[in-house]
Parts: sequence; structure tokens; C-alpha cells
Amino acid sequence: MGAPKTTIWVTGDQLTDRNPALTGADKGSVRILMIESLAWARERPYHKWKLVLIFAAMRGFADDLRRGGWQVDYFAERDDFERPWAEHIAAFRPACVRMMSKSDFGVTERLCALVASFGITIDVVPHGNFISTPQDFDDLMRRGRERVTMETFYRHMRRKTGLLMDGDVPAGGAWNFDKQNRVPPKKNMRFPAAAVVPDRPRVREAVALVDAHFPGHPGSTANFDLPTTRADALAFADEFFSARLDLFGPYEDAMVSGEPRLYHSRLSAAINVGLLHPLELCERAERAYRNGSARLASVEGFVRQLLGWREFVWRVYWRLMPEYRVRNALRATRPVPVWYRDGETSMACQRDALRQVLDLGWAHHIVRLMILGNFALLAGCEPQAMTEWFWYMFVDGYDWVMVPNVIGMTLHADGGFVGTKPYAASANYINKMSDYCATCAYDPKKTVGENACPYNALYWDFIARHEMRFAENPRMALPVRNWRGRDASSKAAIRTRAGELLAKIERGERL
Ligand code: SF4
Repeated sequence: MGAPKTTIWVTGDQLTDRNPALTGADKGSVRILMIESLAWARERPYHKWKLVLIFAAMRGFADDLRRGGWQVDYFAERDDFERPWAEHIAAFRPACVRMMSKSDFGVTERLCALVASFGITIDVVPHGNFISTPQDFDDLMRRGRERVTMETFYRHMRRKTGLLMDGDVPAGGAWNFDKQNRVPPKKNMRFPAAAVVPDRPRVREAVALVDAHFPGHPGSTANFDLPTTRADALAFADEFFSARLDLFGPYEDAMVSGEPRLYHSRLSAAINVGLLHPLELCERAERAYRNGSARLASVEGFVRQLLGWREFVWRVYWRLMPEYRVRNALRATRPVPVWYRDGETSMACQRDALRQVLDLGWAHHIVRLMILGNFALLAGCEPQAMTEWFWYMFVDGYDWVMVPNVIGMTLHADGGFVGTKPYAASANYINKMSDYCATCAYDPKKTVGENACPYNALYWDFIARHEMRFAENPRMALPVRNWRGRDASSKAAIRTRAGELLAKIERGERL
């Protein structure tokens, strides 16, 4: 009697050989099932790059598995999951099914129900592409806390993993180096040339598939340049560690017209589909610090994004879903601005940010937070609609990523669980941290008047709309005091200007 025949179901965001469902499996009795479902890809108007990435990476992963001696049942370009499952069961007759838990809330249950409809039970094993455990977060919550801050969680994870620790103390004597990491861009900065990802037949196949089935989705398949195999993702990471990491920290928050990447790694999409593990990247960053090839402020900033922020939002999501998704503490109801579809606006910062998103399905975190998210916050755009928009427009977007990032951090719709204050800013911040305002049709110094920057009136209107709530928040006391100190005519002019802008957004007009 051989081992019972087992199917291991691998989906498009589980492309890792650290998948615990694969660990220890007997290659002779196991068959790996992979299905491309067009119905899944139609659930949202996903950016074309996201679909190319997932279909190409699935095919590339299946190739790697076969080379490693696994048997793979691969169903390409199928309408849904159901029919391929029926065909697989008829051909292979598995006694049991195993899969890694899905990263988005409710999806594991949906897939289990599908398998159960064939009379087979499914054994679900924990997710393998994170560093922390549920206990890391829950233990901190249990210590009498109403909420756990990212900083508390991050320090716990630094101590637990030993990353960037010298014994019991953080490397360099500090937990963060943010003060060194907020340098505005200099004039005429030059950045490393983009890493060249080899031409892969699997990418060409995926481009043809997406062009055939999803012509109306945002973006274009042209110029797709993301890594889609483990080997290419490692090479992409090599380029970041050798050419960008050292200056990543200082210019982490800088924004430059026509330069989406600067010193950022752009590895998030490869991590979120499983091609890279966050721990291997953190360890690699630490080695760069220890061997003197990258400054500590940059390495700590990079480790903070993965070991701190990414792990934190994952744990917040799983701790607070499903009610977290529907939170709307600021009662924001306006639609997503109409130009978020095509980038057609006179606002230079928004135009460049949206160009990046349309071209690459990606923009770095400050472009997301302080250009696109900040505007939606000030304009009172509905959190759930904005979460959907970020989810389908970004190559690294999933429900687990975007719910805490958009509802929590960006739009403060969770009432202050993720961040104690809203990330609201006027044109001052954008003007300081970017070169956008120099070429804009709007004037960053003006708050009222025809060519006044929309961020300014909307910023003060936002403070005024939520004056009572923010007055109770010590971190918002200064802008509230500033607003209250203005004379009545100044307040009226600002609110009139903001009202005109908000009415345009509601009517679907462009700014
Ligand atoms: Fe953006 Fe205002 Fe600056 Fe124009 S002036 S780029 S709209 S912040």
C-alpha cells in the first residue's frame, strides 16, 4: 500500500516553496493542482500588470515544480475553478486535499466549500509567507492594551527575530532613524537604471491572455517589467541591494516627477505572490549593514517596512476582520475622483502619481499615502470605494493589504486603531518633498482663488468638518487651534472654495 493520493492546491498568491502544504510531502503520491480562473480575474477590474504577473508567475512556478520532480495538474485559461476540479478528481481520484490558508478573509472558506461539494475534505495549513505568528500580536493585545501600535509590534519582532539587534539593544542604539530618512529630493538627481528582467515566454503567454480576455482593464500590458519567477525575483532583489539600498532611507519619502522608483525596491508584488520571503530580504538587508555596504538608517527603514509595517497590517487585518472593512469613522461618502481612472487632471502631483499607477500598477508608499490617499482623505471619499480602487489598481494589492492600509492608515476610517492621527497634509508637505508644484497649474502658496492649490482649502475644510473630534486628539491640537484662530471671513472664504471643489468631485468633474 502506497501513501494515500493527495492533492495540494496552489493558488496564484501562494507561489512559494516554503508553502507548508508542500513541506514533507511525498512527491510520488502527491499531485499539485493549479488553476487559472478567468472568473476570479473578472471579479474586479484588476490592473493588467497584476493579471500578467499572476498568470505568468503561476506558469513559471509550475515549471519550477516540475523541474523539482513534482507532478503538476495545470489548468490554463479556464472559466472557473469548478470544472477543472471535476476533471482533476476524475483523473487522479485524491483521497485528501491540502492547501495553505488564503491571505484574504473568507476566501479559504469559499475554496473549502468548493472542494467539499465534491465530497472531499480539505486540510488547511497556516500561511507560510509571513514572519510573525498570531500570538505575537495577541500577546501584546492581552497585556491590557486597547490597541497595539506598529512601533510596539515592530520592537517585539526585532527582539524576537534578533534582526538588527546587538544583544538586547537595537543596532546603532536607536529603534528608528526617521530623522535621517526624510530628505527632500535634490535638483537634477540621477537614479540607477531600471533592472532588466529577462524576456520570458511565460510572460509573453500571459500578456497574450490578458490582452485577449481583459482589454478593458486599466493599464497596458506593454513594457511589463516585473519578475515572475523565483530566479528573476532574486536577481531583481540583487539589483536593489547593490544599487539602491544605501540611499533608500534618506530619499524614502521623496517624490520626483517622471521617476517612480527612486531608490525603492519595488519588490512588494513578488513578495505578495510568494516568490520572495520577507525574512530572507530582512536578513539580506542586515548583512548589507554589517558588511558596510549600506547605511544603518536605510537598512532599518527597509526592515521596518517588512518586519514592522507588513507584518503589523497583516495581524491587524486578521484580528479585526470582518467588521474592520466596513468602518467609516469620519462618515466619508464622496465617490473616488473621476480622474483616478485616467490621470486627466491639472494637478501635477496627481497626474504624475496616476501616470505611475496606470503605467506600472505601482507607486511608492509616500505617493500612495500623501498624494493619492491624502487627497481622498481631505475630500471625504468613501473608504470602502477607495479600498477597492487601491486593491485593483496596484500589483501588490490584496484585501489583507488594502483594508488596513486604506481604511486604517490612509483614511483614518478605523477611528484611530492603526494610526493615532490622520495623515492629512496641505500643499506645504508636497511642495517640500517633491518637485511637482514647480510645474503645476495650481499655486501651492494659495488657499483661495481660482488657481489656489486644491489641497489647501480641502485641508482646512477637513479640519473644520471634524473640528470637534480632532480637538480631543492631542496630536491634532495644533491644526485645530490654527483653524480656530482664523477670522470669520478667512474661514468663510476657505469653506466656500472647498465647497466648490467638493461639489465638482461629487458631480464627477475634474480638477
Ligand atoms: Fe499638487 Fe497643489 Fe503642488 Fe499642484 S500645487 S502639484 S495640486 S500640491
